[in-house]
Amino acid sequence: MNCKPNKEQLTRRLAEIVGDDAVLADKRELVVYECDAYTLQRNPPTAVVLPRSTQEVAAVVRLCAELDVPIIPRGAGTSLSGAVLAVDGGVMIALTRMNRVLKIDPRNRRALVEAGCVNAWITRDASAHGLFYAPDPSSQTACTIGGNIATNSGGPHTLKNGVTTNHVLGYEMVLPDGTIEWLGVEPDGGEEVAGFDLRGAAIGSEGMFGVVTTVLVRLMKTPPAFKTFLCVFESVDDASQAVSGIIAAGIVPAALEMMDQLITQALEEAYHFGFPLDAGALLIVELDGLAKGVEQQAKQVDEICNRNNAREVRLAAAAAERAALWKCRKRAFGAIGRLSPNYVTQDGVVPRSKLPVIMRFIRTVSDKYELRIPNVFHAGDGNIHPLILYDEREPSQVKRALQAGHDILDKCIELGGSVTGEHGIGAEKIDFMAKQFSKDDLDAMQQLRRVFDPDKRCNPHKMFPGAKRCAEFAQKKQIPA
Ligand SMILES: Cc1cc2nc3c(=O)[nH]c(=O)nc-3n(C[C@H](O)[C@H](O)[C@H](O)COP(=O)(O)OP(=O)(O)OC[C@H]3O[C@@H](n4cnc5c(N)ncnc54)[C@H](O)[C@@H]3O)c2cc1C
Repeated sequence: MNCKPNKEQLTRRLAEIVGDDAVLADKRELVVYECDAYTLQRNPPTAVVLPRSTQEVAAVVRLCAELDVPIIPRGAGTSLSGAVLAVDGGVMIALTRMNRVLKIDPRNRRALVEAGCVNAWITRDASAHGLFYAPDPSSQTACTIGGNIATNSGGPHTLKNGVTTNHVLGYEMVLPDGTIEWLGVEPDGGEEVAGFDLRGAAIGSEGMFGVVTTVLVRLMKTPPAFKTFLCVFESVDDASQAVSGIIAAGIVPAALEMMDQLITQALEEAYHFGFPLDAGALLIVELDGLAKGVEQQAKQVDEICNRNNAREVRLAAAAAERAALWKCRKRAFGAIGRLSPNYVTQDGVVPRSKLPVIMRFIRTVSDKYELRIPNVFHAGDGNIHPLILYDEREPSQVKRALQAGHDILDKCIELGGSVTGEHGIGAEKIDFMAKQFSKDDLDAMQQLRRVFDPDKRCNPHKMFPGAKRCAEFAQKKQIPA
């Protein structure tokens, strides 16, 4: 692989395709693109292109194939696993100018959008028809549908409705050799397609199979009734038992989210919702569906929470209160700035019944490494998000933050879980792949990757053991040995 293309020649040829105003190659402009929301590793790409059409994307990709230059697809750069790192330079193809909602089709409950379309814009446009797009990552006001496909994003409300793969019917993708393919259901096609489900195979491939350009998504009918509860507990253990109790009762809430004391205090300081500052843990439980069923489930949830020592079960009385509660939850990571200059989010999964175990373990890790670790997470899925706080100006804190994250992920594997629920492996968690998967599993994944990208030129150095690290190239000082 040619890691050091002639930059001048490359940018000139890129500009011939997309125009001068759609190529960034100046050192200062590239700073924005040197990392995603995982800021522990950084390296700038050689150039960034901002295409406006699938044809432009395909021409850029063909040029990179000709010059043997790596390509890195990018949406909004909100990945929390370093999935968009230009580890070895290369051309970053940012889809942010291809951001239109092309068509809302209420009759067939579908929307056709460009891959750079921001997640929340689909529901914004579909809501006039009583429809919504279900997967709602907390980053949904920024992240793009292309990024959601590449990471198979979840969100607070995917417990009941399923994650991205359950709502993407089909999409257009530019393969690493520049050919344009449509995978899955076509825009005017029926709901079923013949043959292998290559649509599904490429969802979650972290930008390594090609560049998604246009997407056909499924829309759902907005439920007629909602009930949203804020349940206050003295301890994380009690809240975790309530989570298990709700699921064991056969209730599948629309959302079931937990926040511990430290994150609650940061949220209250930032957004003034009225959270009790001395509570050990809070649960947000949202029920939706037909009014009668929701009413009945609400009684059960109230009873289960009280049985597990809830101090209070508060119903959001009006739509405004429900919206305020969700605003706080979805902006939780933003409130961390009140606690610490830097944080790294982990994304582990444990069986729901092991939530008390992993939460206790996180407290011991916090003590061991003398770092604060607030928690806000998708409890209903057993998908934890410990936020490890550190100060990057203190090299020993950076080292301890990394070790703390590793301990937590090792424990998730030990408990029968996974090292990612929704954020992906990216550059961050490469070392865990060999712990979670056998060599045969990894070989099979690489074989599938080679079907799409025989040269491994598309978003290289991600996911698989043996991939090179950013630190090996440029930023050794970022990660102290
Ligand atoms: C505050 C905050 C909250 C978050 N909450 C959640 C959450 O609740 N659930 C969740 O799942 N994630 C969450 N995330 C993580 C992140 O937002 C998701 O992974 C999201 O899907 C990334 O979308 P993006 O457009 O920012 O993609 P990027 O970060 O730009 O890219 C992510 C990956 O997608 C690939 N990619 C991007 N666009 C394309 C494309 N068009 N074609 C092919 N590959 C592409 C990239 O190469 C990379 O591998 C959160 C992040 C933040 C910062």
